[in-house]
Amino acid sequence: MIRNYIINKALIESGCEELPYVKEVLSRLSGIPIETGVNVKSLVSQATDIASLFNEGKKTLLLMKNRGKFLKLCPGTSSHLCCLYQVLHHAAGCPLDCSYCILQAYLNNPNIVYYANVDDMTEELRERFSKIQGEIFRLGTGEYTDSLALESIMQTTHRLAPILHEFPGVFLELKTKTVDIEAIRGLEPRERMILAWSLNPDRLIQKEEIGAAPLGERLNAASIAQSRGHPVAFHFDPLLFFEGWEEAYRQVVRQLSEAVDISRVFWISLGSFRFPPPLKPVIQKRFPDSRILYEEFIPGEDGKMRYFKPLRIGMYRNMVKWLKEAHPDVFIYLCMERADVWDASLGFHPKNNLDLKRMLDERCISLQAKRGRI
Ligand code: SF4
Repeated sequence: MIRNYIINKALIESGCEELPYVKEVLSRLSGIPIETGVNVKSLVSQATDIASLFNEGKKTLLLMKNRGKFLKLCPGTSSHLCCLYQVLHHAAGCPLDCSYCILQAYLNNPNIVYYANVDDMTEELRERFSKIQGEIFRLGTGEYTDSLALESIMQTTHRLAPILHEFPGVFLELKTKTVDIEAIRGLEPRERMILAWSLNPDRLIQKEEIGAAPLGERLNAASIAQSRGHPVAFHFDPLLFFEGWEEAYRQVVRQLSEAVDISRVFWISLGSFRFPPPLKPVIQKRFPDSRILYEEFIPGEDGKMRYFKPLRIGMYRNMVKWLKEAHPDVFIYLCMERADVWDASLGFHPKNNLDLKRMLDERCISLQAKRGRI
């Protein structure tokens, strides 16, 4: 079931009112109040207690200009292996409301920001991709928002599709907890649009992922996407520890292997719950009933709080075991983990970030080689 996320107000930054993209988006948002001439600096300076403003901000779309770069290397984290993913900074903010969402600690603006100068975005992408010369370039739109939640309105992927056509080394990953695959239906090249679902047990979805689709709906959408020729991927991130986690996550793996052809799943990542310390008071304030903070955590070398290493390794080992039972060749990697945790969980570790990047790039190359037989 496609959820229509409620946008009940649109704010337009001063100077953006006449941009064609702004007019196009507003034409798809009928009957809501629209405020033009917005001064973003003063809007941000008034947002002093941002945690209390998210509830309303998650229903408010702010169309403004991006004055920085649209392409950013995944920030990664020191002493932990990163796949050197490239992130599109086309938006910041999300209509879903996950208790653990790290954006709550990073954003200085509670509204859902979409950048209106999309021509600058496409120009920057073309300029960058023209330099990659035969290399693989993995790009994602799901780091600062959910890739599909507002896609029927914002249509970012529609703008990216022609660029993907021009540059055959570029693979776009759309990460989501929603099911609106109709919003990108018919866009090509679908074989380089990886649809990736974050998965968690339903009991966590209901409590910790407000507004997200139930597990069964996500898996059903993944099955349809796979039958339509998209590579599909899954992210167990964050893996959350709770009493009974083994049976709950094992059941998710069972449902996953029943819903899709797991032998053709493009990749599966595992990442245990981690958070920067400033996120803790925000979660406590916004989600007082959530229990996710009340486990034992230790600070990592990157300053983020993580479960104790033996607990993380135990979770990863079990997940790897269950996924390999579902299909022995399933491609699994860890997100933001240390080399010794890789060794204990998967029996090896990439030499460095570039080596992990190479592993994922090779998945893309193998897909290019099998093109037409996804
Ligand atoms: S879907 Fe992602 S971006 Fe959106 S609230 Fe949840 S964690 Fe944050």
